[in-house]
Amino acid sequence: VPQWAAGFFRVGEDGQLEVTPEGNGGPSASLYEIVSDLRDEGRPLPVLLRFPQILAARVVELNEAFRRAIQKYEYKAEYRGLYPVKVNQRRIVVETIAKAGRPYAHGLEAGSKAELALILAQDLHPEAIIACNGFKDDDFIRLALMGKKLGKNVIITLEKFAELGRVMRIAKELGVEPSIGIRYKLKAKGSGQWEESGGESAKFGLTTPEIIRAVDLLAKAGMLGTIAMLHSHVGSQVTDIRRIKQAVREIAQTYVQLRKLGAPVRYLNLGGGLAVDYDGSKTAFYASANYTLSEYAEDLVYVTKEVCDGHGEPHPILVTESGRAITAYHSVLVLEVVDTIRPPGEEKLEEPPDAHPVVADMFDLARSISAKNYREVYHDAFSNKDTVQNLYDLGLISLRDRALAESLFYQIARKTLKLALELDYPADELEDLQKMLADKLVCNFSLFQSLPDSWAIKQMFPIVPLNRLDERPTREATLVDITCDSDGKFDRFIDLHDVRNTLPVHELRPGERYYLGVFLTGAYQDVLGNSHNLFGRIGEAHVTIDEDGYDIERFVVGEKARRVIEKMGYEDDELAEAVEKLVRSSKKLTPAEKGAFMEQYARELVGYTYLED
Ligand code: PLP
Repeated sequence: VPQWAAGFFRVGEDGQLEVTPEGNGGPSASLYEIVSDLRDEGRPLPVLLRFPQILAARVVELNEAFRRAIQKYEYKAEYRGLYPVKVNQRRIVVETIAKAGRPYAHGLEAGSKAELALILAQDLHPEAIIACNGFKDDDFIRLALMGKKLGKNVIITLEKFAELGRVMRIAKELGVEPSIGIRYKLKAKGSGQWEESGGESAKFGLTTPEIIRAVDLLAKAGMLGTIAMLHSHVGSQVTDIRRIKQAVREIAQTYVQLRKLGAPVRYLNLGGGLAVDYDGSKTAFYASANYTLSEYAEDLVYVTKEVCDGHGEPHPILVTESGRAITAYHSVLVLEVVDTIRPPGEEKLEEPPDAHPVVADMFDLARSISAKNYREVYHDAFSNKDTVQNLYDLGLISLRDRALAESLFYQIARKTLKLALELDYPADELEDLQKMLADKLVCNFSLFQSLPDSWAIKQMFPIVPLNRLDERPTREATLVDITCDSDGKFDRFIDLHDVRNTLPVHELRPGERYYLGVFLTGAYQDVLGNSHNLFGRIGEAHVTIDEDGYDIERFVVGEKARRVIEKMGYEDDELAEAVEKLVRSSKKLTPAEKGAFMEQYARELVGYTYLED
């Protein structure tokens, strides 16, 4: 936990996972207690716990890291952060970041008209930048320019050359002097999953010939002074600091060159990419980062300063658009285990006197397995398993015998794994055994709704039981969701030195609830999810922590079934009418049954879409 938690979570002395939004010395609360209390209040699971204090802390940490770096290297300009709202547009998220960022003039970035519409209404510091990225139509440009006219520091980033002519035309129409940003297509590429966001084949940005054309066009129109910002983005989750440094050098050189062409660029925007160390390994692995926040800030400041000083150009105001690093830590998805699917073979097996010879042989193998012969026994059991399947297909073995053979195979496999693990170097062919023998914990959630990146791009998140962390886990498990989709599962888990196929978990105790927290889910997951199988948005609790304990500031109930059904084009009253007609015409139901059923149907339409007790 300490490796990935960035000081926001820890294991308490009672074995419960705790949240510490102000770091380890500050107030804390047990996540297990919060969830248990929510349940006692009748709130159903799954639930998302949101900690706005963590969001605010991340905004401060980012700005302070740059402040320190600027001081350290005697950099002659400031830092201005920008939060790209696409990373999580939820109201609580945007408003919390805007508030925490106000003292630092932290701004917001829009990638669409709708995003700009919500940003223009935020109470930002007057100098905070509002950047408009993404492809733009006339209305987007008009909205941005009107924002500028209203006194906001709106910068329109040109993502492609053709946008320039439109910006110039509409600015003239509205009588506004635009602030223009130019997105430069970096040659340098990031590292990790989003490598292709940078480089020459990137979707966004102007090539160098296009930049020259833009400068010439603006100069001819007497508008060179409108170029305020140079922008680039090397990709999200850049795991290797060397790639970042390379990109900074390239963009800083481009800044210098633009200044030499007479463009009075003031802001140098290095985009996103500041990575989150999801697995805590501090490596360039795609779920990690081989650098710290301080190192990131220092490298950006130092390299920019070095390049500018080399050419005698003023230091630009440094801008970054960190989204993931600001939001990832603040939310925890809490899942409840509702069932366990166990492979056979843990039950005691009696050998029947009339067992089929292959089954009798399996019993012999199970009795004879030892540290000396386990590989050989496992091979024999494996081929017996195939034989039984062939016999079954030919109708030569009964279902009962086949079931026994299957249980025995798993029994032998378990013993094999146990013996192999006791040796230092288990044979390669046994590696899959652990996964085959793992329990499947059925968790009440939809991966497609709550963790779309886990499915779409194999993103890994830390997953930890919320209690019993002072007890050695005795089972290995994979996790499955409740969608009717076999892709709805977790079978890759983080580990400091490896990727695990199974998660160590505790033996469930009858009558006791077992909760798993999925951590670092605050970036992108909140807004990319879909309603596969009509599982809707889950309920969420906004939690603050102080010396007196925790407080649920707000509970946002999950989407009702009616809402998700309506999204598919149905009208809930039409559905209810059709069902009522069916019920009325039934000759089998008593009037009381009819009434009760209609009531239940109406209740379902306004109910939670997940499994309920
Ligand atoms: N800026 C731009 C232009 C982006 O495309 C992105 C995301 O890919 C970001 C910023 C945010 O990046 P991150 O979440 O890695 O900070």
